[in-house]
Amino acid sequence: MESRPEDLGLRSDGWSGCVVGTLDVERSGDRISVRGKLEASAWVECVRCLKGYALPLEVPFEVFAERAGTGYRLEEKELERDDYMKFHDGRRLDLSEQARETLLLEVPMAPHCSEECRGLCPRCGADLNQGLCGCGLQNPDLSPDN
Ligand SMILES: [Zn+2]
Ligand SMILES: [Zn+2]
Repeated sequence: MESRPEDLGLRSDGWSGCVVGTLDVERSGDRISVRGKLEASAWVECVRCLKGYALPLEVPFEVFAERAGTGYRLEEKELERDDYMKFHDGRRLDLSEQARETLLLEVPMAPHCSEECRGLCPRCGADLNQGLCGCGLQNPDLSPDN
């Protein structure tokens, strides 16, 4: 399974490339269980240096579905509140909403491009990953006005 991020209702500028699902589908009677993983690249901005970069994600994905209309209405409504239980119409199981939520949960709130990212100089705004900015803030010990 391969989908464009837009097809899953994800913002196309928040993701790079396709979302690839490697899924095992098991069907027994009216029950369908889907297990596998989703792989995608989120396009995020480093909170330290503000550089955009692709963050590869690999997330376990699991959905259990039951054919709609086999139970009482009330029962279905209650079951549907459970994140892992989805109803399908017997022909098609729509996983896009589940996939979207699973992926969005995986995107970090405060991503950084690398553990060692040195960020921007708070004084002159230079990218400190490119080297010292020269405004002096980098070496407070060497500054003359101690
Ligand atoms: Zn960074
Ligand atoms: Zn600086």
